Amino acid sequence: MIEWIELSVKEHIDCLVVGAGFAGVVMAERLANASGKRCVVIDQREHLAGNAHDFVDDAGVLVHSYGPHYFRTNSGMVRDYLSRFTTWHPVDYQIKSYADGQFWSFPINLNTYEEMVGRPSTEEEFKSYLESVRLPIAEPANSEEVIISQVGKELYERFFEGYTLKQWKRHPKELDASVCGRIPIRTNRDDRYLREEFQALPTDGYTKLFERILDESPRVQVKLGTSLAEASKHYSWDLLVFTGAIDQYFDERCGPLPYRSLKFERESYSAEQLQQQGREKIAGKPGFWQPAMQVNYPGKDIEFTRIVEIKHATGQAVSATSISREFPAGFEETNEPYYPVPTPESAAIYRRYKMLAEAETSTVFLGRLATYRYYNMDQVVAMALKKFDLQVQGGFDRR
Ligand code: FAD
Ligand code: UDP
Repeated sequence: MIEWIELSVKEHIDCLVVGAGFAGVVMAERLANASGKRCVVIDQREHLAGNAHDFVDDAGVLVHSYGPHYFRTNSGMVRDYLSRFTTWHPVDYQIKSYADGQFWSFPINLNTYEEMVGRPSTEEEFKSYLESVRLPIAEPANSEEVIISQVGKELYERFFEGYTLKQWKRHPKELDASVCGRIPIRTNRDDRYLREEFQALPTDGYTKLFERILDESPRVQVKLGTSLAEASKHYSWDLLVFTGAIDQYFDERCGPLPYRSLKFERESYSAEQLQQQGREKIAGKPGFWQPAMQVNYPGKDIEFTRIVEIKHATGQAVSATSISREFPAGFEETNEPYYPVPTPESAAIYRRYKMLAEAETSTVFLGRLATYRYYNMDQVVAMALKKFDLQVQGGFDRR
């Protein structure tokens, strides 16, 4: 915890930025380096990087603290901006799904079809299979429809229904089509998990990337372990940038927004332990526990949704490995609002908060929690850069 000096008068700063994740730190960097503003960034957590935080664990393995964070983008602007602070380790993110007692190639592609029929096949045959089983839904209205309209019931039930029920504690029918629609479905052999053209991890990890942004921003001061309530006692400001949960900012005045959360169970294995357990046979190479960086478990009888072994993606040269099992949880169990829940009901509540937010002339609401959107990191960086250019910089110039 930081030590506050008792002040009778609040210290005045240009900007207070709440949240040291991508939204907050990118905005602070722009405000400081492009507009010459003095910013204080606070975070109630004891570390930088928000949900993208990573660290070297006791086994010496670089791991992601809040679930795997696979960086990807189609935006040249975002890539150029972040490349000022990091080099990249290119990754073809590949995962598997474990269902009905076997590992499957996933997301669904021609290899998955061959595994299903138990013999070599062709793209044409797979396409005509899909044509025969898919339900003709022109405009899928929810997450069930978006999948069955592409691959039919059997593949939907094997890979999506159970996973989504566990993850969201809601039926795919109740969830926006964008939730399962994120997952690509391909008829060729491209088995990459993600669609974007640039797929890579910061070479030295996310936390180092954040440290470099701050090293290059001498006008930005960071105070960790500090909530907005605490900081309000000590500072006054011209501009507040808020990247926390929007319903919490407004004391849930329009009702609580729903969030889904996770619990993580971590295990590490030394090279000797992996050998003793015969993991090389399963992983396909020594030094690893499972055959891919992520294995999904859609089965309804298994509590967790996925096991992540991030060393596959980071390429870190270390003989031990670490895995993390993800157990979906209610927000009330963890107090960590990891996922906004995209349903028509939550969208209606969010619209009321958005109106309140628009009336706050000296506060900018930014990032995944403050805009209640299931955004990826690159989208949040783009949002911060655009918001700075269009709104914040102009607003400061007018003052
Ligand atoms: P955050 O990173 O959540 O940062 C907000 C910060 O604000 C937090 O650190 C919080 O402690 C702080 N805060 C909130 N309220 C207060 C307050 N009142 N006072 C002080 N501090 C406060 N994206 C990808 O691109 N690829 C992925 O593979 C990927 N995987 C993900 C996996 C999981 C399990 C999760 C949960 C998210 C994943 N994401 C992924 C999304 C990614 O985490 C977000 O896009 C990104 O973290 C958003 O950045 P942010 O700054 O908006 O929010
Ligand atoms: N999903 C699924 N089965 C899978 C993988 C994903 O049903 O094997 C669904 C699930 O609803 C999940 C959504 O697709 O929440 C998006 O998946 P993604 O892997 O992008 O989730 P995230 O990494 O954001 O947790």
